[in-house]
Amino acid sequence: MYPCRIGFGYDVHQLTEGLPLIIGGVKISHYKGALGHSDADALLHAICDALLGASGMRDIGFHFPDSDPALKGIDSRILLKKTMALIEEKGWKVGNIDCTVALQKPKIAPYINEMETQITQLVGSETGTISVKATTTEFLGFTGREEGVQAWAVVLLYR
Ligand code: MG
Repeated sequence: MYPCRIGFGYDVHQLTEGLPLIIGGVKISHYKGALGHSDADALLHAICDALLGASGMRDIGFHFPDSDPALKGIDSRILLKKTMALIEEKGWKVGNIDCTVALQKPKIAPYINEMETQITQLVGSETGTISVKATTTEFLGFTGREEGVQAWAVVLLYR
């Protein structure tokens, strides 16, 4: 088998007043937060899906279904750790991960270093291999109306 594989992941969570907003394992100070069965961390979920996709192991909902009461409110850093265990079992290592988060408000630029550090530790990759980018959608669509957060991730695995 070719020694490198790429994977792609995408996730969305609805934003609701009074919930915590957690993106990339970092708590963001905001009056709205993300709604979901877990802690609704769209960025970590997109990364899990990219990792699973690259290794040909279905998707996050297949391994961690939102019908499982044991996963209610779970910290998505735990889901990423469990995902890493699955791909490491198949002999894969993370080369790099590149991500984009789309959120109208608040600006997440001040949190990006911390997100990259957390993700680097969680996937056990080398420093400088994780990239998180942020964008708004220029007030367009559900993200522009501050109704949701979106995240995309591309990962390169090698062995
Ligand atoms: Mg999700």
